[in-house]
Amino acid sequence: MPKRDYYEVLGVPKTATPDEIKSAYRHLARQYHPDVAKEDPKAAEAKFKEISEAYEVLADEQKRQSYDQRGFDAVQGDFGPGGFTWQNFTHAGDLEDLLGANPLFQQLFGSFMGAPVGRAARGSDVEVAVRLPLRAAVEGARPTLEVPLVGPCSDCRGTGAKHGTALEVCPECGGSGQVRRSRSRGYTQFITVGQCPTCRGSGQKILERCPTCHGSGRQRTVERIEVTVPPGMEDGAVLRVPGHGGRGPDGERAGDLYVQVVFEPSDHLRREGTEAFTEATVPLVTALLGGVATVRTIEGEAELKVPAGTQPETQFRMRGLGFPRFRGPTRGDLVVTLHVEIPRSLPGREKELVREALGAGAPTATARRESFFHRRS
Ligand SMILES: [Zn+2]
Ligand SMILES: [Zn+2]
Repeated sequence: MPKRDYYEVLGVPKTATPDEIKSAYRHLARQYHPDVAKEDPKAAEAKFKEISEAYEVLADEQKRQSYDQRGFDAVQGDFGPGGFTWQNFTHAGDLEDLLGANPLFQQLFGSFMGAPVGRAARGSDVEVAVRLPLRAAVEGARPTLEVPLVGPCSDCRGTGAKHGTALEVCPECGGSGQVRRSRSRGYTQFITVGQCPTCRGSGQKILERCPTCHGSGRQRTVERIEVTVPPGMEDGAVLRVPGHGGRGPDGERAGDLYVQVVFEPSDHLRREGTEAFTEATVPLVTALLGGVATVRTIEGEAELKVPAGTQPETQFRMRGLGFPRFRGPTRGDLVVTLHVEIPRSLPGREKELVREALGAGAPTATARRESFFHRRS
């Protein structure tokens, strides 16, 4: 089978966000899991493996970048000589709820992987939100976040045993940390290797508990992490910071940090993709004779040249003052709707001058009567 482009396999555009990639993968995983797929299980398994390989690459910022630049050759080396296998798959955690929802799915997936899946092997993913001023959508930002994390206890280094106390080999698993279970389905026997429930994978039995973590081996901490928000992020988009989630039981294999970026709303600007929309007002004389309008932009203020004879509500495009394309060098435009302020009343003498200047001629009888009433009221 010729190799298909990873983006094509997941059915996402090259510009897809990490979130879109994740949800496309989850959608397809639900569809092609060999246990639930309508088609032939062998074909479904091949398909499931194909989408998982694509996801393994596209879900990792660095691998995705190498693949974008140099194609398959750039990432195949990571998978070893035989190409992608389930041993290379590191995102089982992303399917955790699917796995949990379907015990057969879990069992099959477990046997593909040959290792326990889910939180046991890898730290949990953590999601936080950060609120930034709108100009950060243009300039990018490097906010420092305080992220609540769960990691191995620093006192006992995750063993759960009190300092200096002995650990015994776990009697249930004999120290391997894993237990094998088999289950038959028709003529097929499924063997799953799972985490030992007694020692929770550590292979050791605790004689005296660590007082800091009460034997759990886990500890809550708050980590300060500086993240880079690139220019051009959409409001509400999610940034993935690999390896900055919770730590796994071994202290390694951290989960990922997902940062949702929310921009403070502006009272004078509206955003639509890379374009920004705003309004400005000039006095009548500027619209008539031409001049300059002060426009509030994303970053501050700018001057807009108003040509003579500008009609009210005319839209002007200020090139390059909109929002940038995501990670791109160019910016969209700022579209300005120009209001013209018309004076509510003019003193009599000025009225005559305007009439004269605009060539409206002498006041008519009606106009004269109107101005008479005007003066009396
Ligand atoms: Zn401890
Ligand atoms: Zn055990």
